[in-house]
Amino acid sequence: MRYIDKNAKRTEGRNITDEYLDNECRTTDQVTGNIRYMNVDYSGSFTNKGYKNKLLELGMALQNKFCCYCLRKIGRKQFATLEHIIPQSSTTTNGYDRYSELSEHEIVLTSDFTSADNQTRPPYPHTVAWNNLVVSCNGRFPLDNNVSSHCCNNARSSDFAPPVYYLRDIESRIVFMQDGTMMAGNSDLHDDVQSTINAAKLNYPALKEIRRLWYLLRNRPYREIVECLYDRNLRTQTLYSIFSMKDLADIRLVCKYQKDEYWEVFMKYHLFYTIFQDRN
Ligand SMILES: [Zn+2]
Repeated sequence: MRYIDKNAKRTEGRNITDEYLDNECRTTDQVTGNIRYMNVDYSGSFTNKGYKNKLLELGMALQNKFCCYCLRKIGRKQFATLEHIIPQSSTTTNGYDRYSELSEHEIVLTSDFTSADNQTRPPYPHTVAWNNLVVSCNGRFPLDNNVSSHCCNNARSSDFAPPVYYLRDIESRIVFMQDGTMMAGNSDLHDDVQSTINAAKLNYPALKEIRRLWYLLRNRPYREIVECLYDRNLRTQTLYSIFSMKDLADIRLVCKYQKDEYWEVFMKYHLFYTIFQDRN
């Protein structure tokens, strides 16, 4: 995870939600003439009429196409999902509201927004609010035949996952072990960081394995690692040079990453080359 600065595109993000509420949810009371916003529906009109897509594109640009959780470079939009930080089904904002982006001044539960007397914004209804939506990968790996999600948004479901990527110094609060394990370091928000790591299943074996591989390759020229994508002989040599091949697990791993589809997924995690750069 790394810092996501939602304020950098706050105006554009709010504009999309405002446009949605004004075009699709605004009603006028026939008797009093008062304006009310009703039927805020993320899976319905928000998705069908393209507002979700606009927020997804804006989020992709803001996050430089990196998954908010696992740091996979998502690339194309069809591999991206929009994550509701406060889950759609949530009945409380507790635990999330201590992050200023999700405070009561910014976000309100959609059910509370539609029933409120005063519907001025912010706060925005949580199911369609810029600050409550971040871009996540689909959590799929070649092994799975593209049928399921093992980490990130879909795997998290609605488990408690506070937005620790809204902390400017999030990177210093995370520890990556040599074997690829990710854990919360000592900090005042240790429990929040660990909750998010656990909820998004960021120690799923394939993820750990990919991070371990980046750790082992941290001293190789980056250009050479990229060339392995096109040059299978070089890839084989490279893999043989970093593993002892005495261990059955290592042999299996080498066989696996000789395959194009695994190396392709591995390359989507290239940010870890930088993350491990200054490690001994
Ligand atoms: Zn991810």
